[in-house]
Amino acid sequence: MTEAGPGSESGGNANRACPWCGNASTTFVSRGYAGLTDETSQYFICGACGRTTFELVAKSAREMRFGRYKPGDIYLDRANRTRYQISRVLRVGSNEFLIYLKPLALDETRGVGSQTASEPMA
Ligand SMILES: [Zn+2]
Repeated sequence: MTEAGPGSESGGNANRACPWCGNASTTFVSRGYAGLTDETSQYFICGACGRTTFELVAKSAREMRFGRYKPGDIYLDRANRTRYQISRVLRVGSNEFLIYLKPLALDETRGVGSQTASEPMA
């Protein structure tokens, strides 16, 4: 984990910037198609604030029915206390759906938890 390379400022568009704090030192985790990883979602983790930002999440047909996800709706990530707008719902298999997410700016004014830094994740 040495990222002190030269010219690491603007490393092109391959690096995602954290939508929550703006930091660009993120670690991208791709959805595992080959089955080597059981990662069904695609996301990146911010090295500064530690939040996970989902780009797409996989849901089973049952979860889809239960959650009633549809484009334009708000998707809540309770673990990270973040919100997204569902931009697209795509069926990828007989029992799998992908939900494409667009991060919504943190709304600190609402009582979604007052930015507790009490749980060091790493
Ligand atoms: Zn961040």
